[in-house]
Amino acid sequence: MNYDYDLFVIGAGSGGVRASRIAGSLGAKVAICEDLYMGGTCVNVGCVPKKLYVYASEYSSHFEDAKGFGWQTQAASFNWATLRDNKKEEISRLNEIYDDLLGNANVEILRGRGRLVDSHTIEVNGQHFTAERIVLAVGGWPYIPQFPGSQYAVSSNEIFDLDEFPKRLAVVGGGYIAVEFAGIFNGLGAAVTQLYRGEQFLRGFDNEVRDVAATEIAKKGVDLRFKTDVTSIDKLSDGSLKVHLSTGDSLVVGAVLYATGRKPKLTDLGLENVNVAISDHGYIEVNDQFQTSEPSIYALGDATEGMALTPVALEEGMALARHLYNDEPCQLNYNNIATTVFCQPNIGTIGMSEEKAREAYPNLVKYRSHYRAMRHNLGGSKERSMMKILVDGDTDKVVGMHMVGADAGEIMQGFAVAMRMDATKADFDATVGIHPTAAEEFVTMRDPVADD
Ligand code: NDP
Repeated sequence: MNYDYDLFVIGAGSGGVRASRIAGSLGAKVAICEDLYMGGTCVNVGCVPKKLYVYASEYSSHFEDAKGFGWQTQAASFNWATLRDNKKEEISRLNEIYDDLLGNANVEILRGRGRLVDSHTIEVNGQHFTAERIVLAVGGWPYIPQFPGSQYAVSSNEIFDLDEFPKRLAVVGGGYIAVEFAGIFNGLGAAVTQLYRGEQFLRGFDNEVRDVAATEIAKKGVDLRFKTDVTSIDKLSDGSLKVHLSTGDSLVVGAVLYATGRKPKLTDLGLENVNVAISDHGYIEVNDQFQTSEPSIYALGDATEGMALTPVALEEGMALARHLYNDEPCQLNYNNIATTVFCQPNIGTIGMSEEKAREAYPNLVKYRSHYRAMRHNLGGSKERSMMKILVDGDTDKVVGMHMVGADAGEIMQGFAVAMRMDATKADFDATVGIHPTAAEEFVTMRDPVADD
């Protein structure tokens, strides 16, 4: 049968763009459709603007620390509109780059929502297109639970572009987004209260990392309230929001950010017209070649279950395109994927938490260092950092690495290569440090610490 395209990708986020670009450059006839923004969540309302706002928020502590290094600075003031509008300009620039990248790979871009009509047909703006294969790269969407007043809460989609800077902000949730935005708005000068329903935020991360991060974040001024949920929100006559808490307390704030997870964006996708299985958790089910239960339809990225991270979606898009159009095996190794929470200080982590490692390795050996970074000795910040290495005592293999400290994201990437190559603690010990850096601590820890 003759199709309009070899490959039709629905969703121009990280995974969809990568899959279509690579497929196009390998000679496939490819189209991609997108109804919202080129580059998807990461470029528009995720990683990229978030990191720009993290940079912005770090200046306040830099101004403070500068005094100890001899700088006389006048009281600094922050202008939200400047940051927000400069960010918008930068994102528009990146959107255009995405258009160019796709155009250069001969990928046809269709603006509009793609709906499945059958296993080889997609409708966009009322027009039908056929394709031998279809990729669902539709990503995720923030989830806000429904409760009285939930309509007043904003998600990570809106928080970047608020008209007014909220002098007081409530952040609900204890995952990546909540922790990162609490730090951003705290650094920009808002009074931030973070509300989390459980005992300790960042569930799933190493427990010691969670404790150290909570201590450091609280030291920076975020009012952390755990075992606390929101029962309702009222809008007051002056436009501010009164947040009623499960503890009986209430807060009056300018904005409430809900960062309570994301769900695959599957509505109005025409899934009822095809035989694509959806998991109990609401994700598109795929095999290890990213193929759904409908053989001509594939799915990848945040619409499928797994690590909802841009680099993972990029790898998946690349692996799928090379598999389909260059006959390469679809081998993706999800072990030891490094990740960073861009809170302040950063959390960087690779491999197992101590809790998981103790279950897997009965002879686990732990190395840990708590320290105050050199910069703070003159700068005056009370921030402390923590690094730890977890080693399987039977094989000497490093099975987990964790850091809470400045630049953890930058530092951990190189160590992720070492762990991927099955580095042993002896390899770390034989590596000469770079002095004076924080990272050298990872190759100078010699004495194991007891299981505490
Ligand atoms: P997460 O799933 O990481 O965290 C959701 C948080 O909301 C959890 O603390 C959860 O609590 C809490 N929660 C869930 N439902 C409710 C509810 N009904 N009421 C109160 N609290 C609730 O989601 P995020 O939104 O933070 O981020 C989504 C994903 O995006 C991340 O998992 C990550 O994969 C990705 N991401 C990655 C970043 C990075 O790499 N730096 C940055 C931002 C996002 P509990 O723990 O009790 O379930």
